[in-house]
Amino acid sequence: MTAKPEKIRCDACPVMCYIADGKIGACDRYANHGGDLVRLDPLTVLETSPDKLVPFMKDTGGSDWDGDLLQSEKSFITAVGAGTTYPDYKPAPFIVSQEVEGVDMVTVVTEGIFSYCGVKVKIDTDRHIGFEREAVLVDGEPIGHVMTSEYGSKMLSLGGVDHLTGGSKKEGRVTCDALLRLCNREPVEMQIGDISLVVQAGQPPVINGAPERLMRVGCGSATIGMFAKQWVDHVDEVVVVDDHITGVLSEHQAGKLLDVPPTGIKILGRRSTPGRYFRVAEPGTGWGGTDIDDPLTILGPFNAKIAWEGLRLLMVSTTGEQYAYFMLDADLKPQPAEIPPALKLSAERIAENCEPSLCSVLFMAGAGGSLRAGVTENPVRLTKSVKDSLTYVSCGGAEAYIWPGGGITVMVDVMEMPTGSFGYVPTPALVAPIEFTLRKSDYAALGGHMEEIRSTADVLAADNRTLSHNQSQPHPHDHRHYRWKDGS
Ligand code: SF4
Repeated sequence: MTAKPEKIRCDACPVMCYIADGKIGACDRYANHGGDLVRLDPLTVLETSPDKLVPFMKDTGGSDWDGDLLQSEKSFITAVGAGTTYPDYKPAPFIVSQEVEGVDMVTVVTEGIFSYCGVKVKIDTDRHIGFEREAVLVDGEPIGHVMTSEYGSKMLSLGGVDHLTGGSKKEGRVTCDALLRLCNREPVEMQIGDISLVVQAGQPPVINGAPERLMRVGCGSATIGMFAKQWVDHVDEVVVVDDHITGVLSEHQAGKLLDVPPTGIKILGRRSTPGRYFRVAEPGTGWGGTDIDDPLTILGPFNAKIAWEGLRLLMVSTTGEQYAYFMLDADLKPQPAEIPPALKLSAERIAENCEPSLCSVLFMAGAGGSLRAGVTENPVRLTKSVKDSLTYVSCGGAEAYIWPGGGITVMVDVMEMPTGSFGYVPTPALVAPIEFTLRKSDYAALGGHMEEIRSTADVLAADNRTLSHNQSQPHPHDHRHYRWKDGS
């Protein structure tokens, strides 16, 4: 018997750690246990409960319990905890097969090392979180930038090769750490200009220390369309204050159709179409995502030929969180007045119609050439197979959106993946699970590592982490994902 070496070399990433017995490598994922290199996180398996209850001991065509304690027929092996085989001249860590509804299926499972990955963050808020193209900083390092403002949301693009590997060492390390925490649903504090922002997947953003509550119901114009009918009997004019499009009831098409007479109101903004104004104020954290706390600052003098004393005016934000009611005095100046219950109710209804404000984190990466080599000796065929809908791509069992165009560029909602799905290596790069599922015959046709195929039952072990299949996600084995479902 030969003595095992004191230190062993991990070859699961380019760092190539030497790990002493009982110690772990630089990424906390691998350890030396008595001379064996072991992956520390358990392999995660998704189990699907039977669709329907099966009567005990009835002739059910074999769908009753058949002595398979591990229920391998209903298991999907994810790549979470599977390990990687970098550099991928070696086949992926697990290539498993099982029969699904009479079809031989293969799933190739690997934890990819992604130096070229990033996240897209959608933050449901009206509030200003920085200008487009402004840098997003963590610990003083740029990790990405503000992208577009979409309907009711602000978008961030974080990570990517330029921040991970193209800047200073610290920039790469901080970016990798921020991406890892975002993907594992942990909070990350960011700075954009003079705004501080805490982002956590599945949680409301915290902007300058205040947790956001609501995503706006729509722009000011849309809000008028939604609620005009509820206002007309109780008020003469409504202004919905919004950073993008501020709406004015009497001028808006909805007001015209409801016979709301002109009020002589003047909005200090850039008129787009009747009843719709752009740029009534600067972006900020005040009313409707503007920088104002006093809504009257967006009004010019009322036209004395049209307005009248006693004119009733409601001003409200697009989340209904801010509202104010005024009546014009003899000088046609708005004076605060007690809001009638019906109008207060309508502001509350705007708020009720808003979605809860959330941060959504979507991991985005490309399954590069070397990762694909772990699947097939002819990597481009895997790309073609994915594009041809013969191969289904999942990340920790969650459906991955495949971008059009070249390569296998995937995007996946981290909330749909098992918790703790992501790891890192200090190159720096993120480690993320990815699975390719396809028919065994298609796997052979694309030059797959057929000799490495094992049965699912062979791979399952008592210490697997077993999760129920996420019901909000399609099952990777569902034949509807595949082009051959219709016999092609
Ligand atoms: S950092 Fe890389 S080489 Fe070191 S233990 Fe982790 S995977 Fe292995």
